[in-house]
Amino acid sequence: MENISIDEMSMFCKRKGFVFPSGELYGGLAGFWDFGPLGVELKKNIKDSWWKYHVYQREDIVGIDGSIITHPKVWKASGHVDSFVDLAVVCKKCKNKSKVDKHELEITSCEKCGGEWESKGEFNPMFTTQIGPIKEDSVQAFLRPETAQLIFSNFKQITDTTRVKLPFGIAQIGKSFRNEISPRNFLFRCREFEQMEIEYFINPSKKETCPYEIPDLEIAIYSSEMQEKKEEAKIMKISKALKEKIILLPWHAYWLAIELQWFKSLGANMNNFRIRQHLKDEKSHYATDTWDIEYKFPFGFRELQGIADRGNYDLTQHQKVSNKNLELKDEETGEKFLPMVISEPSLGLERAFLVFLFDAYSKNQKNEIILKLNPQLSPIKFAIFPLIKKDEEQTKIARKIYLKLKENMNVSYDDSGSVGRRYARNDEIGTPYCITIDEESKKNNTVTIRDRNTTEQIRVSIEDIEEVSRKLIS
Ligand code: ATP
Repeated sequence: MENISIDEMSMFCKRKGFVFPSGELYGGLAGFWDFGPLGVELKKNIKDSWWKYHVYQREDIVGIDGSIITHPKVWKASGHVDSFVDLAVVCKKCKNKSKVDKHELEITSCEKCGGEWESKGEFNPMFTTQIGPIKEDSVQAFLRPETAQLIFSNFKQITDTTRVKLPFGIAQIGKSFRNEISPRNFLFRCREFEQMEIEYFINPSKKETCPYEIPDLEIAIYSSEMQEKKEEAKIMKISKALKEKIILLPWHAYWLAIELQWFKSLGANMNNFRIRQHLKDEKSHYATDTWDIEYKFPFGFRELQGIADRGNYDLTQHQKVSNKNLELKDEETGEKFLPMVISEPSLGLERAFLVFLFDAYSKNQKNEIILKLNPQLSPIKFAIFPLIKKDEEQTKIARKIYLKLKENMNVSYDDSGSVGRRYARNDEIGTPYCITIDEESKKNNTVTIRDRNTTEQIRVSIEDIEEVSRKLIS
């Protein structure tokens, strides 16, 4: 990994067509970003991989896709209308704008210069809108600030219509909106972003036991005690942290390991990750324990994903406000109870997007950028070139291979400039393999496949190209 700043990453993304400032034609709009032809592919590949890992490959998780605008009472019940309130603050010294929790005004200072905060009053980061075209008949509604509440408000329909049995999870990927006072650091803090979330429900009487094996992963662990004592994070196996009661519940150890494993399987560098336990006054009153997965962004370790324990707070609230019973029945004892959320892995897609880009961004000896993305995430899987553009036979073979592979994956056809230039162009955007059709192809029906990371080439029969290419990117 090369050390580049967040602004350099933003410029790179713009230059290559990954991400553009939204509305740039008119000067841009802070906190909103548009994804270009390569960005949309990377984003889609991250989402597909996340869904496959969390929904298709498991027996205990089902998915939903809730609406962005829902009944305003959902946000009343969840506490977002009354309690999702931050304090807008401005630094007395450098005028940096930020937000803090209400209780943080006195105990925190400006992250830029250490200056004292001046409170500019409370604000609710939910965007409002009106439902109904006639002003006096319309109702105020909100753009959802998180996807999670759609899972809770659909809980009864899901348990009524599927055969899920505790413990089980409900997953969702979708847009969320927050009117952040100070959107900054490129995609890290936006006003419109996507979340990939799971609410994982259990019977509260089974809180202490997790039936699943915990992947044995080593990671930097930053417990609340280490933070209080101003110690460094310690690299440790997750299973050891559980044994030593640093992580309190096996379910939390399990979900932390499962989530880290997903990042690792897609090539993220575990040396840039740490798990941080929430301090006592940071976690919700109903949570036994809460952890964040943090990533070392160029501006320091920051939250990438929360693994919160929500108790049965949300279902209790929705039951109370809707006056509908949301309890489940224990099949063995017949006892009725409200399930609890033991873990809520909640990940911002844009933050994951940045992680994969930062960890893939590297340079070769010639100082050229090589984006070493995992092939599953690469926007373009294969670039296909005729060595000589004017050679009709080479072009014909190249077009045929291109059209064949295009049926099942995103590939590109490139015949401009030298072959070295074409390799470099593709290395820079993360294309893992380039297929070249040359003189030999005409004689023996073979082509070369060049590997981005090693630059090594193999010769493959054209007949086998579909099968080989499928294997290479799986
Ligand atoms: P932060 O403290 O950074 O504002 P948060 O604790 O409010 O985040 P959550 O409400 O726990 O965040 O949201 C879950 C996840 O959604 C976060 O871990 C993050 O990955 C993502 N997320 C939250 N706010 C934003 C944002 N403004 N832009 C991009 N991603 C976000």
